[in-house]
Amino acid sequence: MARRALITGITGQDGSYLAEHLLSEGYEVWGLVRGQANPRVSRVRKLLQDVQLVRGDLLDQGSLISAVEKVQPDEVYNLGAISFVPMSWEQAELTAEVTGMGVLRMLEAIRVCSGISSTRTANGSGQIRFYQASSSEMFGQVRETPQAETTPFHPRSPYGVAKAYGHFLTQNYRESYGMFAVSGILFNHESPRRGAEFVTRKVSLGAARIKLGLASELRLGNLEARRDWGYAGDYVRAMHLMLQAETPEDYVIGTGRTQSVRELVEAAFGAAGLDWEQYVVCDQALHRPAEVDLLCADPKKARVQLGWEPSVSFEELVAMMVESDIKLLSEGGDPDQDSSWP
Ligand code: NDP
Ligand code: GDP
Repeated sequence: MARRALITGITGQDGSYLAEHLLSEGYEVWGLVRGQANPRVSRVRKLLQDVQLVRGDLLDQGSLISAVEKVQPDEVYNLGAISFVPMSWEQAELTAEVTGMGVLRMLEAIRVCSGISSTRTANGSGQIRFYQASSSEMFGQVRETPQAETTPFHPRSPYGVAKAYGHFLTQNYRESYGMFAVSGILFNHESPRRGAEFVTRKVSLGAARIKLGLASELRLGNLEARRDWGYAGDYVRAMHLMLQAETPEDYVIGTGRTQSVRELVEAAFGAAGLDWEQYVVCDQALHRPAEVDLLCADPKKARVQLGWEPSVSFEELVAMMVESDIKLLSEGGDPDQDSSWP
């Protein structure tokens, strides 16, 4: 019988790539969707026709229990979150509820549906395996570089703090109840499906608009911040591998290379045949109250234990995104519309 996976965050970037990957591995894939008229659901229906949908919200414990009861998954991937760092200052409480407490609610749904209590722990085979989408934002203020599984956390935003809560809770459910619950500490990963508010997509769309004469400038914040940027399609493979491992463990996933936002801009405008210095405007209003200056992964554990390697370089990723956005915009597509998922 096909293994069954339940994905929260199916309407997001990673949910879509993970669903495609699991379908290609022969899984029966279910996606949790929320809201009455969520426009992103039609995008999932169109692109991922083999994915079945179940209603639920990370804010609603009962809905998660019902979803787990209905789907009876072998694996749960918790990707749902408020994931945009600046929004986490504007809506800190909501971020704590969805990105942090949502992890508790999903773990509780699995615990209750599996009949696990404080006196009865999970017993090996047949138990639901759980993946938590942890983030390199938990490292925050630079303590050491590159950052590995053992690097201490010092989150710099309400988002990073909420992710740290979800991370420790996942570890705690593993230790308390013997659950197969793991976290992937993923560094930034991007694609042509990345939300338009994140810097890579903002830059690829900006370069594409300028190239096509649809805009004359691009306003950005801190150009000196450095990130370890990889390709989302590579990172969802790592999520799956973590749940196939013999023992439940946490892993850092990244490329081990770091680039500044300035280098990103240079590469993207270069791919569009433009000189970035003529178009990019630095806007103090786009700087953050507290910045994460430098992220760079040490993905050695994933390479050695899972055999995971990234396949797309930074330069290839940037070129892929710029090319995709030039195509999208020149065909009259709107990056904020449902139909625009390449
Ligand atoms: P996206 O922002 O693209 O997707 C977020 C998803 O969360 C959407 O599907 C959204 O669904 C869902 N969601 C929001 N609120 C709720 C809620 N109350 N209940 C259920 N679902 C909800 O994120 P990505 O795909 O980029 O990232 C996936 C996960 O990985 C996130 O948890 C993110 O924080 C984490 N992560 C991402 C990194 C990256 O670089 N991409 C790096 C490290 C971690 P809806 O359509 O209903 O709004
Ligand atoms: P994050 O690492 O999860 O916060 O991902 P983002 O893509 O949102 O931001 C990456 C880095 O780019 C951060 O250090 C931002 O401060 C920096 N940055 C500079 N200008 C911008 C901008 O206009 N938008 C965004 N989103 N980030 C910017």
